[in-house]
Amino acid sequence: MSQDLYELLGVDRDADGDTIKKAYRRLARQYHPDVNPDPSAQEHFKEVSRAYEVLSDPAKRASYDRGGDPFGGAAGFGQGAGFSFTDIMDAFFGGAGATGGRGPRPRERRGQDALIRLEVQLADAAFGVTREIKVDTAVLCTTCHGSGATPGSKPVPCETCRGAGEVAHVQRSFLGEIRTLRPCAACRGYGTIIPDPCRECGGDGRVRSRRTLTVKIPAGVDDGTRVQLAGEGEIGPGGGPAGDLYVEIHVAPHPTFTRNGSDLHCTVSLPMSAAALGTTLTLPTLEADVVTGEDTDSGLETSFDLDVRPGTQSGSEQVLRGRGVPGLRGGRGDLVVTLVVETPTRLDARQEELLRELAAIRGEEAPSGQVRATHKGMFGRLRDAFNGH
Ligand code: ZN
Repeated sequence: MSQDLYELLGVDRDADGDTIKKAYRRLARQYHPDVNPDPSAQEHFKEVSRAYEVLSDPAKRASYDRGGDPFGGAAGFGQGAGFSFTDIMDAFFGGAGATGGRGPRPRERRGQDALIRLEVQLADAAFGVTREIKVDTAVLCTTCHGSGATPGSKPVPCETCRGAGEVAHVQRSFLGEIRTLRPCAACRGYGTIIPDPCRECGGDGRVRSRRTLTVKIPAGVDDGTRVQLAGEGEIGPGGGPAGDLYVEIHVAPHPTFTRNGSDLHCTVSLPMSAAALGTTLTLPTLEADVVTGEDTDSGLETSFDLDVRPGTQSGSEQVLRGRGVPGLRGGRGDLVVTLVVETPTRLDARQEELLRELAAIRGEEAPSGQVRATHKGMFGRLRDAFNGH
């Protein structure tokens, strides 16, 4: 190391120990890898640590002042970089706040959340439903009431850590003593030991159980919606509070309706003549799924009339406002009906005669076929994108 150690720390040659200490602390705050991720800062921190290691030790400092090699033996050379920023700060601030000190950890902790899947019909998701579900979670052990100790016995303070739940590890270094606290291995950090664990739960304070819950699915849920049941999840260890239960909704496919957000879609076919002349179709509603035979006073419409205008084209859509799925926050989507006009495939002699007569009247006996641009599909749009349209 060619650079002057006093210059590295930015202090005078006659600086006292306290000044050197303050200078190093300031530089550690600036360059320690925990606070400064820059690789050059890391290198610089190693150098100032080496300088401090020499100048903070009166014997090494005197040897350096006389022109000797302060790194003779090289033990502990530049070790400052091996300590965390908090370790260094703790060493300077007297070590009263050794790192990691949190005291014993409680046996009682909050339980985990649980998740179960529930398949419902489209109408149940749309209008809401109440279902009974079976859940398998940890519940409170009734033998020890969560304490984990056999009834009549009690947890006793851990002898290894004297109830602190952690033990100190002391490392000596040029910075002084660095104390770190680690969880006590004998009591696993609890500070107490259960001498006679409950036989029912093995000392955990909980057992697994299957129970039946009633869950209210609100109207408007969709595939993947999670309904939260507070406090119905896994109970915590040591009798701690239970986590929450999430019921994840899966909506079964419907034979008639498909759902897109809060809109419903369906396809209705009708004969060519009805499309030409116009008609009224009676169609089932999604509500029909939730109305049972005798349930006539529910006020729910099980069917509705769809007016088909004369001259309706195949593939045309009719949007019925407010006949879709209710939203979770109110409102209701639309029902989109796609009409498909069916061309008759089998004609008897009389039907064929009538159609030929109609064709003659309309001058459609030898249609030329009107050539039109194909409606732009995926390939058309891609081609346009390539051509820069
Ligand atoms: Zn128990």
